[in-house]
Amino acid sequence: MTKKVAVCPGSFDPITNGHLDIVYRGLCVFDKVIIAVGHNPLKKDFFTTEEKLEMIKKSVGDNPRIDVDVFEGLLVDYLQAVGACAILRGLRVVSDFEMELQLALMNRRLCSKVETFFLMTDYNHLFVSSTIVKATAAAGGSVEGLVPGPVLDKLRENFPKMTK
Ligand code: ADP
Repeated sequence: MTKKVAVCPGSFDPITNGHLDIVYRGLCVFDKVIIAVGHNPLKKDFFTTEEKLEMIKKSVGDNPRIDVDVFEGLLVDYLQAVGACAILRGLRVVSDFEMELQLALMNRRLCSKVETFFLMTDYNHLFVSSTIVKATAAAGGSVEGLVPGPVLDKLRENFPKMTK
């Protein structure tokens, strides 16, 4: 039987427990999930792509059903190149919806075979975003429990004022 592969694309600047929750729940439906780090031109990245990849790889460990990669250019081209049939995204608040709808429709217009699957965030991660995590850490606050251990270590390295 053909393996169902989904790509979970994002900036992951840095990856949070909200992102990871979407990836692991995606594995209940798909045989494999590829976490694909891309550059969002609407956002200014804090971490380099290499740093993001390192944090993600350390966070997911050795799981044969999860791949970590980088993509450039059109996401639909990347999906075809890696043999994936679906895009996996997470939805938090209503304000996520508008942009996600536009992206999903544009991707479908670019390639009608590609479907986007949305998973609702878990209530524990409803307010968690990479942006709020960085802002809190930069101001010296604790983000323990919101990000995986390797990300916490990297944030502590960058923001020594962090409380825990
Ligand atoms: P992008 O810049 O492409 O939106 P992000 O890394 O910010 O990349 O987000 C990637 C995906 O993860 C998006 O679909 C976003 O809605 C989702 N996501 C981010 N944070 C959470 C969270 N706390 N819970 C669920 N989904 C999330």
